[in-house]
Amino acid sequence: MTNTTSRRLFLSAAAATAGTVLVHPQALAADDSSRQAKFIVISDTHLGHKDQPTAEAQWKQTAAELAKAEGKFVLHLGDVVDGGRESQYPLYRAARETIGKEVHEIPGNHDPQPLFEKHLVRGVDRVVEDDWLRVLLMNNSRTDSHDGFLSGRQLDWLGEQLSAAASDRKLVLLAMHVPAHTNRHPDRGWHIQPQEGQTRLYELVDKHRQQIIALLHGHFHNGIRGWSDRGQAGKAPVHEIVFPSALYNENRKLTEQKAPGYNLSEFRPGYTLIEIRDRTMTLRYKPLGGEVTAEKALELAAT
Ligand SMILES: [Zn+2]
Repeated sequence: MTNTTSRRLFLSAAAATAGTVLVHPQALAADDSSRQAKFIVISDTHLGHKDQPTAEAQWKQTAAELAKAEGKFVLHLGDVVDGGRESQYPLYRAARETIGKEVHEIPGNHDPQPLFEKHLVRGVDRVVEDDWLRVLLMNNSRTDSHDGFLSGRQLDWLGEQLSAAASDRKLVLLAMHVPAHTNRHPDRGWHIQPQEGQTRLYELVDKHRQQIIALLHGHFHNGIRGWSDRGQAGKAPVHEIVFPSALYNENRKLTEQKAPGYNLSEFRPGYTLIEIRDRTMTLRYKPLGGEVTAEKALELAAT
């Protein structure tokens, strides 16, 4: 029996078991081009900052803008309140209700998990699904550290979710407050250390790179800052993006100091409008009360 014959037998067997599942290449192509999404990312609202009403007032203004902004849902990447001030969570929620869109938060190092779960959502490591897009939200922050931490159990959960996304043919965004990417001065220097989950996380990211669009973070308060160096040579990478604070940001002059990656030249408080289409993810920095001034287009490996 020749190789050709056995391959033909194998192919017809595969076709028979495929049943009603679409496996035709043209069906895949159509699927890819229809993968579009618009959503909004905010972070680090820090209600109660310096025990002043400023942060709440700014959050109300942000919420009013988010109500009118284009985007199907909102991701909040942590530090909802400042320093675990419990009285601020109801104030945060009151303004959130005016947005009229789903808002999905993760805790930051300023949000003690018990308070976050009491006032916002139970089960912090969770999945939000929108059509072809699956957002995996994880708590990798601790109130006593600026670094990030992922436990063995969390990484097991992540591995299961990434495998499930592959079999369901969903694409994934992974949201965690603290960046995974190693960074040092002139950056903040805060990230997941190798032994605290970074090594295993990146093993999972590399294994499931076809499924993962980007890792999304807050925590830094220095505008849109990111790296696109995780990937195979000649292929689009898995992006790692740090988002601006809606309360305050600092220009750490990363571009001038030639820090690796990119840092857009906008540092006013604001949020980010995101559009995915044509295998590109475009980030638009929307300063509070101002026009979009800074934009970044990222080529996607996934999709
Ligand atoms: Zn913060």
